[in-house]
Amino acid sequence: MSVMRQIDIGRQYLGLAEDEILARIQARKEELADRLLILGHHYQRDSVYRFADLKGDSLKLSREAAAIKDREFLVFCGVHFMAEAADILAADNQKVLLPHLDAGCPMADMASSAAIAAAWKELTVVTGLAGRDIIPITYVNSSASVKAFVGEHGGSVCTSSNAKEVLAWALDQGRMVFFFPDQHLGRNASWMLDIPDEQVVLWRRGEPMGGNRENDLNNARVVLWDGYCEVHMRIFPEHVSSWRATAPEATIIVHPECRNEVVRAADLYGSTEGIIKAVAGGAPGSHWVIGTEINLVQRLADEYPDKIIHSLTPGCLCPTMDAVGPANLLWVLDNLAEGRIVNQVRVDPETAAQARKSLNQMLAI
Ligand code: SF4
Repeated sequence: MSVMRQIDIGRQYLGLAEDEILARIQARKEELADRLLILGHHYQRDSVYRFADLKGDSLKLSREAAAIKDREFLVFCGVHFMAEAADILAADNQKVLLPHLDAGCPMADMASSAAIAAAWKELTVVTGLAGRDIIPITYVNSSASVKAFVGEHGGSVCTSSNAKEVLAWALDQGRMVFFFPDQHLGRNASWMLDIPDEQVVLWRRGEPMGGNRENDLNNARVVLWDGYCEVHMRIFPEHVSSWRATAPEATIIVHPECRNEVVRAADLYGSTEGIIKAVAGGAPGSHWVIGTEINLVQRLADEYPDKIIHSLTPGCLCPTMDAVGPANLLWVLDNLAEGRIVNQVRVDPETAAQARKSLNQMLAI
């Protein structure tokens, strides 16, 4: 597996008016017809998202796409780890393409498999725990090689909807859980399971013993990697209290990538799918204040004009999700229609086999 950078797609695309780009994407979609499946993550901008045949969060998209074996090209409008997961679950004849190769997830990039392996080794030495005593969990927002590490060590992937259940499973299996890369999802899942704060410790990258005392590590049940989502980090408890004062009747719902103080202060928390479901089920006229990426919040506001919908915090735009523009999508489709495959994301078979174990473990929980 190699990470490539996006090449310049050229002025013939970047100079086009958006209306023309959208019309040409539609024409290419019709031309490629049954050979093509476009997947769109909730955080994609509307001008791309509207062309998606499948819409959802990362795992839902990969699983649904994997069930459709007769489409040759899976164009994943999302970020790199999602395209990797789709390739891991895809059939051999299917090719996964990412319209913009610079669309990575900064949180996933905070945990390389080499850094995880080094920390794992240190943790086993300090605690004297070995093998199956430490169970690794990786959030789906991680590279294929990190998922493969987890598969090799008997752990599981989790998502923002099932982190609590996966953590409970892992705590039943071993003495300690090593959770990466999102410290906040791990802390929120630990909080939901009532694990005492002193048994949840943070592993700070680059510091000996992750910046902990030996005793604290020995008493820990959950060790959290210090990764985070910079988009959800823009949401603070003060935003919640400010909305409480402005609109006391509103329901405040936040994503569990937010810090624990925010999740505690909100009325509800949920994954992207959970947030959509909650708003969809709200009564006409109900007021929702949502703490997650702005494209999803804006889309909900458009889809439910009978409800009042606001973003909890201004400026929650994920810049790497936003890197995928309609011009990139058109460029990929033009190339496919002309017989060229560009921006294919491939996971080598050995890594894919181990990573698949960790994904299958999650599905079995
Ligand atoms: S919103 Fe956060 S977790 Fe999602 S892709 Fe962007 S940086 Fe990564």
